[in-house]
Amino acid sequence: MRRELTETQLLGIWEAGTGQAPPARALLLAAAAAPPGTAVADLTLADLNELLLDLREESFGPALPCATECPGCDEPLEVSVATDELRTCGRRTVPGPRPHPSATLLAEGYEVTYRALTGRDLLAVDAASPDARRALLSRCVVGAEPAAEVLPDVVLEALAQRLAELDPGADTVLPLSCPHCRHTWTAALDVAGHLWAEVEGYARRLLHEVHALARGYGWSESDVLTVSPARRRFYLEATAG
Ligand SMILES: [Zn+2]
Repeated sequence: MRRELTETQLLGIWEAGTGQAPPARALLLAAAAAPPGTAVADLTLADLNELLLDLREESFGPALPCATECPGCDEPLEVSVATDELRTCGRRTVPGPRPHPSATLLAEGYEVTYRALTGRDLLAVDAASPDARRALLSRCVVGAEPAAEVLPDVVLEALAQRLAELDPGADTVLPLSCPHCRHTWTAALDVAGHLWAEVEGYARRLLHEVHALARGYGWSESDVLTVSPARRRFYLEATAG
């Protein structure tokens, strides 16, 4: 299935996501890559990442430029990451909402049944709240024996350690090494945040093009969007004289 964003779709996503929190933006993007009618909020984080990587690849190509800093020597580092390096389980087709994978954990005398995090969990928790991590982890708890209104932090942290096993690909982590000091480390890459920044950059450039061509030729926005990027470049150069 082809998941490349059209420019009209891209502008629609940018407009709908502007002013929204990151989880809402991630779901807007994932919905563009999912089969029509998919309840993307109910997909696990690994499934969401898979859709976002598909969308990134089809729309902007498989190489993600990333800028970071070496924690060993503070040198700035620019690397290009292939989308496939971020697919923990290899390329796969997201099956659509499935029963949330769940597992059981024994910690501190509790037997806790927990499930994988979904997009809906991220939407429900205010990431800026000091209690965000605890709130998110608590949402994964399906049941506890003995029953507890509030589980101790140490139990929730043990659960946090297990979530990656339950939903491989929920965290996209990159192995990095510094060519200056040979330091090696891993860094988390926020696929949705990365893709959102690209969508935003593209939308802003496109709207500037619409503005310039509308002024130069009297075209409407929809007129401009029917002209291919290569032809638009030609007309823009021509109007610039
Ligand atoms: Zn270094």
